[in-house]
Amino acid sequence: MEQAQLTLDEVLEYVKNRPDTTRTYQVPQGVIAALPLSEPPHMRLLGASEVQELADYLDTSPSSLKGPFKVFDATCSSCGRRITFLDFAKTAVELGMHAKEALRDVLTGKNGEWITIRGRDGGRPVACAGCGHAVPRLKMNGSYSEYSSSSYAYA
Ligand SMILES: [Zn+2]
Repeated sequence: MEQAQLTLDEVLEYVKNRPDTTRTYQVPQGVIAALPLSEPPHMRLLGASEVQELADYLDTSPSSLKGPFKVFDATCSSCGRRITFLDFAKTAVELGMHAKEALRDVLTGKNGEWITIRGRDGGRPVACAGCGHAVPRLKMNGSYSEYSSSSYAYA
């Protein structure tokens, strides 16, 4: 992952005035909890079997993952799979945005807090973990999240 660190004020500024490029930043402890990310109805909590699936993918145990994991509620139009946090994780690893080991360290809370801030380029793509079909993302202005945990969020 990239190394730049942002303060809470800088994160808030970027949410208000989006940067050109979608990027992942490390943030000081407590920034994710302090973010005023609205939780609109499109966000749902992952179920136990979905957390298990994410843990299996990251070669770790569900109890080591720092939830609660939330994800925007969407279904793959091609195979009917309900999109979970795993679909974002797998897409990022397969596109080379994050190494799987680095992602595991972040999601188990061993490597601080990270935020991916959507830029004016429209954000990161997500593909269905079941069939690989591209899932259309929400295209909204202002602050919203497509997924979050206590150590990694998308703003
Ligand atoms: Zn699918």
